[in-house]
Amino acid sequence: MAFTLAPLPYAYEALEPHIDTETMKIHHDKHHQAYVDNLNKAIAGTEHENKSIEELVKNAGTISPAVRNNGGGHWNHTFFWESLKNNNSAKPSGKLAEAIDAAFGTFDAFKEKFNAAGTTRFGSGWAWLNIKDGKLEVSSTPNQDNPLMDVAEVKGTPILGCDVWEHAYYLKYQNKRPAYLEAFWNAVNWDKVAERFEKG
Ligand code: MN
Repeated sequence: MAFTLAPLPYAYEALEPHIDTETMKIHHDKHHQAYVDNLNKAIAGTEHENKSIEELVKNAGTISPAVRNNGGGHWNHTFFWESLKNNNSAKPSGKLAEAIDAAFGTFDAFKEKFNAAGTTRFGSGWAWLNIKDGKLEVSSTPNQDNPLMDVAEVKGTPILGCDVWEHAYYLKYQNKRPAYLEAFWNAVNWDKVAERFEKG
């Protein structure tokens, strides 16, 4: 069974003005599609053909660079689309808010740490909020790696991720990655993040 690209769970323009329509179209229809196509090519005719994306990603370091990059790309983008929603300046609430305060002090301190992870990631990569041993932690990964991978420097279960590749923001924000990260907070689906947090 080859992997397929699911449609976005909302309209391309749903995240305006924070993440623009054109970026969403190219990002989903071209970039994510390419990861899916290249992943399918990489596993075709191999023993990895019928594995789940989670299983491939967890063992990315021992399979092949093509699976690490494109399998990671497929998993990360699927996770990213589901993490987004035009949130009207909502903030986390309930148990998730408590866990953020316990780990970082305040919501603003958490944001600062996450933004720093995104802005200091040299080149292309991702910023993450993870659960590790029952606690929340911020990390970042290069390229299309993620915290589930055996090769990740900081491992954990991600509950939020932000794509900081230039293709995620360049049309609207050009070289201003910090401005994109600031806008990202208006496009986080906190209900989804809370659901992942509660699942652990
Ligand atoms: Mn991307």
